[in-house]
Amino acid sequence: MAKTVLVTGASRGIGREIALLFAENGYSVAINYHKSINQAVALKEKINAFGGIAELFQADVGNYDEVKIMVDNIHKTFGFIDTLVNNAGISEQLLFTDIFPDKWAKMINTNLTSVYNCCHRVLPEMIRNHKGCIINIASMWGETGGSCEVHYSTAKAGIIGLTKALAKEVGLSNIRVNCVSPGVIMTDMMSAFDEQTIAQLKDETPLYRMGTPQDIANTVLFLADDKSSFITGQIIGVNGGIYI
Ligand code: NAP
Repeated sequence: MAKTVLVTGASRGIGREIALLFAENGYSVAINYHKSINQAVALKEKINAFGGIAELFQADVGNYDEVKIMVDNIHKTFGFIDTLVNNAGISEQLLFTDIFPDKWAKMINTNLTSVYNCCHRVLPEMIRNHKGCIINIASMWGETGGSCEVHYSTAKAGIIGLTKALAKEVGLSNIRVNCVSPGVIMTDMMSAFDEQTIAQLKDETPLYRMGTPQDIANTVLFLADDKSSFITGQIIGVNGGIYI
């Protein structure tokens, strides 16, 4: 039977590419999206067109009740979720003094509490089945700290801590928890940066190019595969060497 993956925030960018690659590799894909229904439908159609299996599951992953309903529906549709990819996220550039409580709460909720929400709903079945794989998408800013992105950096650093602690707790249940920490990846998220800033980031990158969503998807697929069965609790930088 095909394995199932849940990819959060799969309507666009990195999540879309992860969903596509897993479908190409025989997984049944639960595509989570929040607002971009047209892109999500187009992705499902693309996967179905090559004979792949995918279904759409709308939910704000920052909302525990919505995640509970989503995960219950995925269990009904596909059965066991073998791999959970916590990818959904937002970013924002603001001076720390301009991050008021509403913006702080939204960032932490969407980028960090969402990871707790999804892990908390998916893990009980994984523990019962004594297998499973969780891959969280952090960011190099969670490792280095990003000026004018304190709330984003904090949320991503939290994902790194969650990954390490959870890996220790569920290893005995044969569940692996890892984290991919991207550098600069060309998606809608980078549209907030002007050309000059992007050129500067490229200059600072030893491999002298921007990352692509495929770079991240390839690493996520490897971490889901049995080929990485002795890897857990790790933070894998996929960043062209911009942070070593
Ligand atoms: P993106 O192109 O802006 O896509 C973001 C995705 O997250 C969309 O599919 C969006 O869904 C979804 N999303 C946002 N809020 C959500 C919510 N509350 N519930 C469910 N889905 C939600 O971003 P990206 O560049 O692909 O980023 C993906 C992940 O990689 C994020 O966690 C990001 O922090 C991380 N990352 C990106 C970079 C980079 O340079 N691009 C670098 C480091 C880390 P809808 O459109 O359907 O609302």
